[in-house]
Amino acid sequence: MSIFSHPDFDNHEGVYAFSDPASGLRSYIAVHNTNRGPASGGTRFWQYATDYEALTDVLRLSRAMSFKNAMAEIPLGGGKGVIIKPESQFDRESLFAAYGRAVEKVGGQYITAEDVGVSPDDMLTIKTQTNFVAGLDDGEAASGDPSPHTADGIFRGLEVAVKHKLGIEGFGGLLVAVQGLGHVGYNLAERLYKSGARLVVADINSEVTARAASELKASVVGVDEIHAQEVDIFAPCALGGAINANSIEDISAYIIGGAANNQLKTPEMGEALRLRDILYCPDYVLNAGGIINVSAEVSGTYNYEWVDGKLENIKVTLQEIFDRSEKLKLPTNEIANEMARERLG
Ligand code: NAD
Repeated sequence: MSIFSHPDFDNHEGVYAFSDPASGLRSYIAVHNTNRGPASGGTRFWQYATDYEALTDVLRLSRAMSFKNAMAEIPLGGGKGVIIKPESQFDRESLFAAYGRAVEKVGGQYITAEDVGVSPDDMLTIKTQTNFVAGLDDGEAASGDPSPHTADGIFRGLEVAVKHKLGIEGFGGLLVAVQGLGHVGYNLAERLYKSGARLVVADINSEVTARAASELKASVVGVDEIHAQEVDIFAPCALGGAINANSIEDISAYIIGGAANNQLKTPEMGEALRLRDILYCPDYVLNAGGIINVSAEVSGTYNYEWVDGKLENIKVTLQEIFDRSEKLKLPTNEIANEMARERLG
């Protein structure tokens, strides 16, 4: 199949494939749209079953970054990188250095940051080869780990969703199911707990669930049960596709909103949720806090007041989506896509 007929191609400005046999690097960098500024989005390091799966992932994720950055009204376009985890032994530093050279070759049209599977040390290795990197701990405008800001944006957005759907202020007494207690999920769970919510959690890592049980008085359930809990809010904070043809019938939460990108396995899931009277907070609108913070770093002068203003703006955008969705009787994911395309010009 040609790249142009890939179902997720969506007129990407550029799609790059890089290989470096010496280190084992095989990666894609996708630049979806640079109308608003250089394309920015994290790099994912993942064991893909096939090259095609990796290509599909990078195309979907980079388009989502265009939409996310447009909806967050930040001066960045949308792009993403994926590195296919080698099946055989590899030297991590050589691999990430080779990836850094690949980012450099894209010549500033793409600025990378962390995503799933990539550590702060990997980012430092990438930085030895290119300056087109953000989300670092050191440097003049360094903004550090974006995850707490992502969690902050989700928390603020969920407040709006709770007010809209349940007519109440805050999270006191509400029951929230958090799927995935990683960098964002744990931080979000902490914020919710401190605000009076009760938690049900699941993660494949039993150390983090034990910590949540002890520190946040969370109930722990299996990873295959978390979506089906009778809760007020379901927060998918692991990987994408949590809402799919198999899981949707079991979901009884009033509200869905979390960190994971591409939470809807297929776009049709949005309408299915609407028909079930479940309020879905479009993922890329709700989870923009991290890229907002990264954007402040890319500008060269980090200013938290600007970040705070943009985080507050997530609430305004969400409310507009909810209102339009109700008025037009269309799912929130479709409304968000339409608004994002308007903003992308
Ligand atoms: P992370 O890798 O730190 O955390 C993911 C967690 O999910 C881990 O604890 C992992 O053990 C757990 N997990 C994996 N599979 C699971 C399953 N089947 N059921 C339950 N738990 C499972 O990642 P993160 O940085 O917290 O990001 C979480 C999600 O949010 C990802 O989809 C990421 O793309 C997205 N996201 C993250 C940010 C950010 O700032 N970090 C920003 C926007 C979107």
